[in-house]
Amino acid sequence: MKSAVVTQFGQPLEIQDRPRPTPAAGQVLVRMEACGLCHTDIHAANGDWPVKPSPPFVPGHEGVGIVEQLGQDVYNHQIGDRVAIAWLGHACGECRYCVDGRETLCQQQQNSGYSIDGAWSEYAVTDAKYAVAVPDGVSPIDAAPLSCAGVTSYKAVKVARIQPTENVAVFGIGGLGHLAVQYAKLVGGTVIGVDVEQDKLELATELGATHVVNAREQDPVAAIEQLGGADVALAFAVSPESFEQAFKSLRPGGRLICVALPAEGTMAIPIFETVLKGIAIIGSIVGTRQDLTEVFALHAAGLTRVISEGRKLDDVNESIGEVLSGHVPARLVFEF
Ligand code: NAD
Ligand code: ZN
Ligand code: ZN
Repeated sequence: MKSAVVTQFGQPLEIQDRPRPTPAAGQVLVRMEACGLCHTDIHAANGDWPVKPSPPFVPGHEGVGIVEQLGQDVYNHQIGDRVAIAWLGHACGECRYCVDGRETLCQQQQNSGYSIDGAWSEYAVTDAKYAVAVPDGVSPIDAAPLSCAGVTSYKAVKVARIQPTENVAVFGIGGLGHLAVQYAKLVGGTVIGVDVEQDKLELATELGATHVVNAREQDPVAAIEQLGGADVALAFAVSPESFEQAFKSLRPGGRLICVALPAEGTMAIPIFETVLKGIAIIGSIVGTRQDLTEVFALHAAGLTRVISEGRKLDDVNESIGEVLSGHVPARLVFEF
């Protein structure tokens, strides 16, 4: 089977012919139909973060495909089911976080395309319990970006506890941000889209943003202040400076939701303003299996749109270059 493999950090990926894996007990073998290219895959391939994967490894955590083989003791899926392989590839199921509904904080978790091989491959094995069913009515090409970009931005909107009419500034209208605009609208927020690319801002408007700000041409803090300030700022741009702008754009009682993971990841936060304005700073990491099920249900109900373009896995390195250039529709998706 064909797989895209990171053999060394910072080097082009190799397309390799690898043996098709056999599902161990509790696993399923999935024949991939589609897998998105998340910016996290680029961080993984560059070894950007303090906790690093170990090359060689196969990225990809927006995998969608058909169950083709069951390992022993798999009862929740059948051959022929369509499932998603998301970032949360495995968790212990027994710790306080797993049992109280915060499984993405499990300290024993395995992450698809990072600590275990992911879905940039014609086939992948995955823990059946963490493979989420994709309902009829959600196409593989849409289900793929929803499996990370969707669930992560949905969870960020949930933890922000947005009230109707609140101003929600979405920094970065890429894979995650273009879906966040829609979830923030769904819960009644007034959306302000911020990006450095004009076409991304046009997309934000098309998806329901009331205002847009080009952070390359205008100071987003001043522009958002003119609009009364943000109650919620969602940080999806791979830029520490953008996090600081997101913080400064908040009005009293505001919430900064930190989601992007830039390589040089520190931000300077003034204590005085944080305290006097009662600002909350919250980190948000992907979403649970239940969150993803909700994301699929919203999409099946016709309430969200996924903006994407298909690519071939053979063009993985060119595709990464395209994402870094900023000139792509919200998400690129490898189609198998
Ligand atoms: P993306 O490349 O699709 O989108 C990033 C967007 O930010 C682009 O539209 C880009 O034009 C814009 N941008 C760049 N610089 C900007 C700036 N200074 N101000 C405003 N906008 C700017 O990336 P993505 O796949 O949406 O991922 C975004 C980040 O989120 C990555 O760091 C990724 O690793 C991270 N991520 C985190 C989680 C999590 O669970 N916390 C999950 C998935 C991805
Ligand atoms: Zn991702
Ligand atoms: Zn656990």
